[in-house]
Amino acid sequence: MDWSFPPEAEEFRNEVKAFIAEHLTDDVINSTHDGTIHNWDFHKKIAERGWLGGAVPADLGGGGKSALEMAVMVEELQLAGAPIDGMGVAIVVASVVLELGNDHLKEAIVPKLLSGETLVSFGYTEPDSGSDVAASQTRAVKDGDEWVINGQKMWTTMAHIADYVLLLTRTNTEVPKHKGLTFFIVPLSTPGIEIHPVHTMGTERSNATFYDSVRIGDEWRIGEVDGGWEIMKAALKYERGIAGGQFPSPPLIDAFIEYAREASRPDGTALVEDQLVRERLVRAMIDVEVCRGFAYNTAFLASEGVMFGVEGSMTKLFASESYKKHSKWFIEMAGIEGLISLGEETAPVGGVLDEHFRHAPVTTIYGGTSEISRNLIAEGLLGLPRTR
Ligand SMILES: Cc1cc2nc3c(=O)[nH]c(=O)nc-3n(C[C@H](O)[C@H](O)[C@H](O)COP(=O)(O)OP(=O)(O)OC[C@H]3O[C@@H](n4cnc5c(N)ncnc54)[C@H](O)[C@@H]3O)c2cc1C
Repeated sequence: MDWSFPPEAEEFRNEVKAFIAEHLTDDVINSTHDGTIHNWDFHKKIAERGWLGGAVPADLGGGGKSALEMAVMVEELQLAGAPIDGMGVAIVVASVVLELGNDHLKEAIVPKLLSGETLVSFGYTEPDSGSDVAASQTRAVKDGDEWVINGQKMWTTMAHIADYVLLLTRTNTEVPKHKGLTFFIVPLSTPGIEIHPVHTMGTERSNATFYDSVRIGDEWRIGEVDGGWEIMKAALKYERGIAGGQFPSPPLIDAFIEYAREASRPDGTALVEDQLVRERLVRAMIDVEVCRGFAYNTAFLASEGVMFGVEGSMTKLFASESYKKHSKWFIEMAGIEGLISLGEETAPVGGVLDEHFRHAPVTTIYGGTSEISRNLIAEGLLGLPRTR
């Protein structure tokens, strides 16, 4: 089996590495410590390189970059700990609009998204529907030429810095739940919308968003009335297309090695000489290599035009669960020092051990929980019967 990438992908890897060396400064990383994993300047520089547009499929008018090149880009940015939440959202929404949106949306949204000037947040989850996203209750009712929207969304991450929300609504209560949904791209400046911050233990800032008689024209609808499930599937398809890799652990491992070199054991020797510390570091690095195997497999499938499904769930499940395990190991081994938070003067390696320990569990929830991923793998790979 030949795991090497084609020369053009390796050349592109070098280009991405050089970009990171030049633009991913400490200031950029520190700017995300307020909980918003997005930095406008960094994002715009990625856009200026043409990498957002490059990730959009060629048959939709984007292109230039292959699935393997995209995988390489995501891998290098994640390994370096770059803030790329906005990048993923921009690529997914631009691709969905280009495939299924009307001319108004294509003109109003896509150029600004791909030039890095604007963002669209995802408004799927509600207080009573997360994993079961099709149970969405936010209502959209047609009134003349307009739609009137009422309801509440939970976890509308980045809504406070975005100009739009890709909003999942219920337009029909008389049909099975998947068949009565409609999507809109709603300008967040529309009267009747409130955005309230939600701060997580993982130090992220997300939002609860409220929609009180929000009126928008039909030109903001994407897809057919009651055909929202098609938009959902398209969004998932493009998300999978760019999410080749999942590498949350390497920046944590690097930080822990730095810490363990400096910290002493009671006998005065360095913590990094401890056998258990060394064993766990090696185990964590092996897990990263397994992640790489999953990531390259999904990237390879995408490059062959195969729409992968269960492979994406395996990648996400393994990467997030192993990251959670590593963050627990490292905080245990750092002892009480490891719990000192970001911003505290005495925090070792800037407090990032604590930051990762708080953040890691969240990665097993968003983008599909571990339980849902296990269900999908059990059904899709092992052929076990559906449980719901
Ligand atoms: C920090 C953060 C950011 C987020 N950002 C966004 C965003 O930008 N936009 C957005 O729309 N959403 C976002 N989400 C929401 C996220 O996608 C949901 O939290 C997730 O899908 C789970 O839904 P829930 O929280 O309602 O939990 P529930 O679905 O209520 O699940 C509760 C528990 O039950 C388990 N469970 C549920 N169903 C099953 C089942 N069938 N079988 C076995 N176990 C099951 C779950 O695994 C979980 O452990 C974000 C969440 C977080 C925490």
